[in-house]
Amino acid sequence: MDLYEHQARELFEEHGILVPRAEVTDSPKEAREIARRLGGRVVVKAQVKTGGRGKAGGVKLAADPAAAELTARQILGMDIKGHTVGKVMLAQPVDIETEFYVSYVLDRAAGGFLAIASAEGGMDIEEVAATRPDAVVRVHIDPAEGVTSAKAGEIADAAGLPPQTVDVLVRLWEVLIREDALLVEVNPLVRTRQGQILALDGKVTLDDNARFRQARWGAEGAEHDDPLEAVAAAKGLNYVKLDGEVGIIGNGAGLVMSTLDVVAGCGARPANFLDIGGGASAQIMADGLTVILSDPAVKSVFVNVFGGITACDAVADGIVQALDTVRLTKPLVVRLDGNNAARGRVILDERAHPLVQQATTMDGAAHKAAQLANAA
Ligand code: GDP
Ligand code: MN
Repeated sequence: MDLYEHQARELFEEHGILVPRAEVTDSPKEAREIARRLGGRVVVKAQVKTGGRGKAGGVKLAADPAAAELTARQILGMDIKGHTVGKVMLAQPVDIETEFYVSYVLDRAAGGFLAIASAEGGMDIEEVAATRPDAVVRVHIDPAEGVTSAKAGEIADAAGLPPQTVDVLVRLWEVLIREDALLVEVNPLVRTRQGQILALDGKVTLDDNARFRQARWGAEGAEHDDPLEAVAAAKGLNYVKLDGEVGIIGNGAGLVMSTLDVVAGCGARPANFLDIGGGASAQIMADGLTVILSDPAVKSVFVNVFGGITACDAVADGIVQALDTVRLTKPLVVRLDGNNAARGRVILDERAHPLVQQATTMDGAAHKAAQLANAA
């Protein structure tokens, strides 16, 4: 689970990392009060679980409490990359001299963690890494040893960060370990004109497997990083949002995973991943189709079912009933195989929905779905 910036800020503060004074609210009127408490001039920041808020107009300086109220009113309710702004954080402005980038991220392949650091923080770190790879350093961290002062010194030296950042790098590691995080990122970590090192923006991703011992995030635990994932979770569906155009529904994680690969092999990209598991009742199909069709990126849908315990005629019945409750707006390609596949195909043929077509093989269906998505 990703934390909001204000939650990351709170964790940094608890671990002794300097952060600007700040408060959170969902009310423009209260924003005015907060600005007054913070000394008048404030930075108003959208609280959404996505980056690039600055570029999207979600980070703005307000000169006085009245301006803070107005700016909060503008930013609250704003849509940033599909995330609606429900809260803003008001922070005391900082006199920035230099912006740095630092993060620790789990490196599964190396069986450890990776420190990523750059003396060129603030803007898009991906862009810096792409255009000037030498400006971003990567240092492997042995998880058993962690980030000692010596290790932090090594990271700071390699990236060209000032010596005062060593203490912050050690504390940031404490955040990662004590809070069970998979990622901690500070961008920008700044040196102020007064010479202080402050974390101005933070991202923390917690390990969901450790949720049981991080009870304080319990209420937030129900929140999802993608709005549709939240809708799907509320319906008990296993749905993951991806970046492409072909919506995918399948039964069983293994089949769904290979479906993603086959679709990619056909020159299209999966838009999502929806595993309907063992049962494929009409309700599950209707819920699944509703979720998938609500994603504006979806251009075609591929339903890939291998009937084992679940019989294909039951799945076909589910699809037919779902078509009565869900308005199909995009072409649907169905591949049924295994238990009672022939009967399932007949049921779909008899329904003869103009947007539904069938294929007998997984490859054939993937090709059709990819073609339809690419032609749309
Ligand atoms: P992001 O766009 O979502 O990464 O949001 P950030 O919190 O990182 O803000 C984007 C940029 O706004 C930062 O890189 C800073 O340059 C600027 N910024 C944010 N807070 C302050 C502040 O207190 N003072 C000044 N001068 N600039 C700020
Ligand atoms: Mn940032």
